[in-house]
Amino acid sequence: MIKENLEDVKRRMTEACKRGSRVRDDVTLICVSKTKPVEMIKEAYDLGEREFGENKAQEMKEKYELLPKDIHWHFIGHLQTNKVRYVVGRAYLIHSVDSLHLAEAIEQESRKKEVISHILLEVNVAKEESKFGIHTEETVELVKKIAAFPHIRIEGLMTIAPFVGNPEENRQIFQKLYELSVDIGRKNIDNVSMGVLSMGMTNDYEVAVEEGATYIRVGTGIFGERDYNH
Ligand SMILES: *Cc1c(COP(=O)(O)O)cnc(C)c1O
Repeated sequence: MIKENLEDVKRRMTEACKRGSRVRDDVTLICVSKTKPVEMIKEAYDLGEREFGENKAQEMKEKYELLPKDIHWHFIGHLQTNKVRYVVGRAYLIHSVDSLHLAEAIEQESRKKEVISHILLEVNVAKEESKFGIHTEETVELVKKIAAFPHIRIEGLMTIAPFVGNPEENRQIFQKLYELSVDIGRKNIDNVSMGVLSMGMTNDYEVAVEEGATYIRVGTGIFGERDYNH
């Protein structure tokens, strides 16, 4: 099942790239493996996948210890400062930085471990109250403040779009995140790159690719429905 699902997602990514005049190699699939057992991750790994996404700090740490070291772990969940130690030094990219306070904790832990942490700022483009993330208007100021931290490198932006029936409803959100990243990129802030745009999930990744995503985060579309009742 995982093999067929991966083939299907990749075929659709390629088609979305054509529609959006995107270079296929500029778009990377993150297999969102949260709640799924290591056996399933291993199966995807054996099929060649190396990018995996997790949203719980301890779960990511445990899977990190059990699985091959050439996996890139993407931390995509809300991160509390007291869990930062599980993630720093293990995550290839932290997608969900949404406050100066959290960035300070990441900076401290990164200094302690003598690593550079690569991060994205999570932007709540749709201003959904249920979601984490900063608002569009706050983003530049936060970028400037975090850019001063020597052990953090800002690579771009991330958003979680609303769950909608028709993915077209999210096109504007993806366009807005793209425009915001272009605006910030033009400011040439030291220590800041805006090359990465993490947007699009099972429900809407094709639209996200058309609108400029460089990472899409697909869980259900690869591993099937999640069961939170164990
Ligand atoms: C769970 C999750 C995903 C994957 O969601 P699917 O709809 O299963 O593809 C993507 N991004 C984030 C931040 C998530 O928490």
